[in-house]
Amino acid sequence: MEPSELLARHGVAPVVLEPAPAPPARRATLDRVAALPPRACSACGAMSVTARAVSLAGAGPRWVDLCRDRALAVRRPFRGPVTLAGLAADLRAAAQEAGIARLAFYSSFEAAAVGRQRTGPAMTAPVPPVTEPDTSARTCPSDQIGPCATCQRPTHKYGSGARSPLCEYCDAQAVAAWGKPLRAS
Ligand SMILES: [Zn+2]
Ligand SMILES: [Zn+2]
Repeated sequence: MEPSELLARHGVAPVVLEPAPAPPARRATLDRVAALPPRACSACGAMSVTARAVSLAGAGPRWVDLCRDRALAVRRPFRGPVTLAGLAADLRAAAQEAGIARLAFYSSFEAAAVGRQRTGPAMTAPVPPVTEPDTSARTCPSDQIGPCATCQRPTHKYGSGARSPLCEYCDAQAVAAWGKPLRAS
């Protein structure tokens, strides 16, 4: 269902909605969704969980805030990337567009995607003893090496190019567990 149809079904006139920047307005959308307290759903008044800038006939771009049920109702059939690698590329493009300069998950996320394609679950690869530096520590200036925040393995921790406080092994585990895919470096 289109947002315009949803609004019509709930008898909400587009002109009562707050004017929005031109869609997709990703950065403004992120800010709006993160703002507290949550806004009321434009359709039903329940607590919203997401928002979309939508160009509405006769009203121009307007904010449509949506509760969970309404958000599901207007979700379009999924046409995005279906592979993990494609998803990583898509996330990166979205984050760059949103102005998020440095996110640590890019390289490890993509490494995990590649690892899965190549060898199946990355966890089956043997992990060397924690006294052994990881790849990044072997290829960066020695004064940028520091201990992994989890296992103390020497890793590329400081300076330009350092992307995570974790060594490559702990980083891959964190990504595999999907616990915190978005860690700022
Ligand atoms: Zn609602
Ligand atoms: Zn580690």
